Amino acid sequence: MRLPKFQYKSPATIDEAIALVSEAKGDAVIIAGGTDLLPSMKQRRLTPKIVVNIKRAEDLAYIKDGENNVRIGALTRLSSIEESDIIRKKFPMLAKAAGEVGAPQHRNAGTIGGNLCLNTRCWYYNQSAFFRTCRPVCYKFGNEEDKCQLFPTREGKANVCYSVFSGDTAPSLIALKAEVKIKGPKGERKIPLAELYTGDGKRPLALGWGDILTEVIIPDPPAYSSGCYLKYRIREAIDFPLVGVAANIVLDSKDGICERASVVLGAVASRPVEVTDAEDILRSNKITDDLIEEVSEAAFKAAKPLSNLHECSAQYRKRLAKIFTKRAINSILSAISQS
Ligand SMILES: Cc1cc2nc3c(=O)[nH]c(=O)nc-3n(C[C@H](O)[C@H](O)[C@H](O)COP(=O)(O)OP(=O)(O)OC[C@H]3O[C@@H](n4cnc5c(N)ncnc54)[C@H](O)[C@@H]3O)c2cc1C
Ligand code: SF4
Repeated sequence: MRLPKFQYKSPATIDEAIALVSEAKGDAVIIAGGTDLLPSMKQRRLTPKIVVNIKRAEDLAYIKDGENNVRIGALTRLSSIEESDIIRKKFPMLAKAAGEVGAPQHRNAGTIGGNLCLNTRCWYYNQSAFFRTCRPVCYKFGNEEDKCQLFPTREGKANVCYSVFSGDTAPSLIALKAEVKIKGPKGERKIPLAELYTGDGKRPLALGWGDILTEVIIPDPPAYSSGCYLKYRIREAIDFPLVGVAANIVLDSKDGICERASVVLGAVASRPVEVTDAEDILRSNKITDDLIEEVSEAAFKAAKPLSNLHECSAQYRKRLAKIFTKRAINSILSAISQS
């Protein structure tokens, strides 16, 4: 399948890249590894006039171990994160999540910035241009008056896109309370990663024209803490997640009281979903089987997938969110008690 025609730019500075994309408004996109963008262009889901490669603009491929945090440049490849001694030691769940993205080729080319800025996916949207001619234009492709082709009357609302955010690393990074640096036409800002996601499938990222994610900052893990990421996909060797569960827990001692807990679900909505009740249920308590059951039930309620990823039903994905939450917490407790 051929790419559509486009102008290719490789600016020498990040400011030049920002200017190029912001001036072109919707006509220019950033390319990092290209593993998500190029298939979308080949299938004519995106047909930008200008593609701006940021690889020459700034050295954004690094993992730096600081005094109280680890900083990862946006162009760091997923395979470098998977294999990094720093990440494996401090944040094994992130190394695992990065190592479960697609296939080795995707991880060797794909970057953490691209993974966090992934477009949302839907059974109707992620199809070839030819396939899509069999139905009217859907809201994500079209204008404000167009309708969602799969759930046009859901909850009585028009103009809603329920496409799914399926990035593998975001749930773990949100559970680890990571922040991201964004450079744009208005300067630089730092926001919690969770705030990067709007929850709107049509415009899933809180980025303006020309905004570029440059760095991910993860606070050092406290003592007696651990995390776990579990992913369900049909083909273990390559597929996107149909459900991902990331959990991170901090205790006050081995087998002690819970000080902090975070459970984040991936691939069940247009943004990563934080199970907000998890911390309320676990904090200040010794974690028992009953409490784990309660948190798993909260994850079940928080997961609201729809049947728009064709490989498996929404109900099955919802049940998996519950089962994986239970497994993740048990695995974390066992890791902390053996540390
Ligand atoms: C067959 C297949 C299987 C896959 N399986 C998985 C999977 O299991 N899990 C998963 O998470 N992903 C999967 N992917 C998607 C993709 O390979 C990865 O998410 C990868 O990390 C994307 O990174 P990239 O650098 O290639 O992004 P690109 O394709 O270059 O960019 C992706 C998007 O992010 C934007 N972008 C990139 N960098 C920045 C930045 N620094 N600032 C702002 N915007 C930016 C681009 O404009 C584009 O919209 C799969 C893809 C394919 C084709
Ligand atoms: S959820 Fe609806 S609007 Fe969104 S991509 Fe799918 S069919 Fe289109």
